Amino acid sequence: MKKTSIVTNTIFRLSAFAFIIFLLVGSTCLAQKPYEGKVLLAVFAHPDDESTVSPILAKYAREGAKVHLVIVTDGRYGTNDFHDHIAGETLVATRKKEMKCAAELLEAELIHLNFHDQLRAAEGYDGHVPHAREMIKQLNEIVNRLNPDAIITWGPDGGSTHMDHRLVGASVTQVYLSQDWNKPMDLFYYGTPSDAIDDPEGKILRGQAGKYLRTKVSYTDQDLEKAAKSYRCHYSQIDPMLTEENFMERKSKNGKFVYLRKFEAPKNDSDSVFGNN
Ligand SMILES: [Zn+2]
Repeated sequence: MKKTSIVTNTIFRLSAFAFIIFLLVGSTCLAQKPYEGKVLLAVFAHPDDESTVSPILAKYAREGAKVHLVIVTDGRYGTNDFHDHIAGETLVATRKKEMKCAAELLEAELIHLNFHDQLRAAEGYDGHVPHAREMIKQLNEIVNRLNPDAIITWGPDGGSTHMDHRLVGASVTQVYLSQDWNKPMDLFYYGTPSDAIDDPEGKILRGQAGKYLRTKVSYTDQDLEKAAKSYRCHYSQIDPMLTEENFMERKSKNGKFVYLRKFEAPKNDSDSVFGNN
């Protein structure tokens, strides 16, 4: 073989090699998920509460974020007309297992705390308040440890006015407000647009004006299917006749979105309660 053809051949091989490397690196870059490195923390009161936002938990996990799910209570009082469970420790064990199943399907890292369902409300001030204080301290430890980029929790309506829901949302808010976090960290509340609620009482109890629910996170059919499968894990809480299709239909009745209200801090100091708009 002539010297020139050896050189040409070598150049061709090197170019081909470089081109393959370029393709490999390029495809790796393209394959990188959009939220790789981001940390999302969702905090809810009971096993199955996460189903309010589960399609977007599945979405963010799919898009590369590390999703942590904190469930505060043990669900010991989760009896209902569909099953004949008895409130107490056996039901706690069942619901822990169900919650684990649901979190795994959503690809969320589960932290299931051991607070009593209803946060010892029946025990009055001396039973409830120390329990609620301990909850704030444990949530504070979790937020400090996980250092999330975004947090989602219950808003003041608590979805159903359930006291545990509202107190978990308020406790997460207290943790958030208690210090100046050393990185950008956003807090979001799950919300239902008043326009999507038909009954007037429901609008008052849990509706939110559209102008507050400005974070409208879309999700795919695939995310919704995952959410439906995950919901089925909470077998002790659901009507055995409810199918995954029923869940998906109900969930996406007003479009494939989860509405959130972002907590906004004032941008400027002020010396009056008036004229701050
Ligand atoms: Zn609940």
